[in-house]
Amino acid sequence: MSETKKIAVISGDGIGPEVVAEAEKVLRRAEELYGYSFETEHALFGGIAIDEKGTPLPEETLKVCKSADAVLLGAVGGPKWDNNSKELRPETGLLGIRKELGLFSNLRPAVVFDCLKEASTLKPEVLEGTDLMVVRELTGGIYFGEKFRRETEHGEEAVDTCAYNVAEVERIVRQAFEIAQGRRKKLASVDKANVLETSRLWRETVNRIAPDYPDVELEHVLVDNCAMQLLRRPASFDVIVTENMFGDILSDEAAMLTGSIGMLASASLGEGSFGLYEPVHGSAPDIAGQGLANPIATILSLALMFRTTFGYGEAADAIEAAVAKVLDEGHRTADIAVDKSKALSTSQMGDLIVAAIQKA
Ligand code: NAD
Repeated sequence: MSETKKIAVISGDGIGPEVVAEAEKVLRRAEELYGYSFETEHALFGGIAIDEKGTPLPEETLKVCKSADAVLLGAVGGPKWDNNSKELRPETGLLGIRKELGLFSNLRPAVVFDCLKEASTLKPEVLEGTDLMVVRELTGGIYFGEKFRRETEHGEEAVDTCAYNVAEVERIVRQAFEIAQGRRKKLASVDKANVLETSRLWRETVNRIAPDYPDVELEHVLVDNCAMQLLRRPASFDVIVTENMFGDILSDEAAMLTGSIGMLASASLGEGSFGLYEPVHGSAPDIAGQGLANPIATILSLALMFRTTFGYGEAADAIEAAVAKVLDEGHRTADIAVDKSKALSTSQMGDLIVAAIQKA
């Protein structure tokens, strides 16, 4: 039996509890197969926490997260809370939890499953073999710089400042190099160094630390070119690292390569191995409570947790292979089904994936 790992489980709102329940089945199966030991603690967050505790991010929830090795999050939000004041909105809790847990990078894998190539808007032959990871800086840059408005002789002017210091760049770039070392050992650093001073500092920093990772092949790509290359040759990318706003845009572009939002996993990482893992999608109030949600994004987020926080690469590979096998066999939830009348429910999909997990 291996050392017990603590996971804070936050189901949240809408389809959150439905998809998280399926990921927990996978967690238990991994315990049986590999002898891992997980202790899970559930905590309230988002709309449900507003209803029950009067705040989207209760102190108790933060305590549970801070004492855990990793957090598994479903999704938060919904129309019920949309008209609340800012401090009583579930989304405010999301910003708060990232800040409180010191999460400074966001990882978004984009993997194209062969059998779902047709679901993308790109040609199948362009997508062949696409398996990339966007690593986005999450706490700096223009979203967090000084903002103000002032009167000028040409009318009102608005200013957003973009700032990065060497320490901020270095910590995320080192993380990206390490992630690349665990994958196909290729890193694309994306900037706009022909125009922006922050990008020139970014590139200098990348070049200074690159010799520490001699096994990783590094390329610098200008952001406008990267936006094009993602559509032209997505399979040639392995890990892409970039600053906050570029990463916001490029990760959404990369996500669209794969076809369905119900398939996209993500992680937010801080110092050390701690991370918060969640599907990219929201709480999908339109299908909540009906057993229609696709649990794959949450199950793949768990696989990402196994590999990234716990170093359980073998189990992560097995979970990803089980998802691919079930899809290859033609099983689909409604969001990815061509024939909706044959679509599986959330728990049927979860059960098939659990049954398909094979120890190598
Ligand atoms: P959404 O991702 O919840 O839904 C967009 C569309 O995709 C909907 O038609 C939905 O049915 C579908 N969809 C999403 N996930 C699916 C899944 N797993 N399986 C099948 N279909 C799925 O985005 P939205 O409608 O813009 O937002 C709904 C709520 O979620 C809002 O309150 C928003 O603020 C919140 N939200 C939360 C997060 C988060 O918790 N990190 C992220 C995005 C949105």
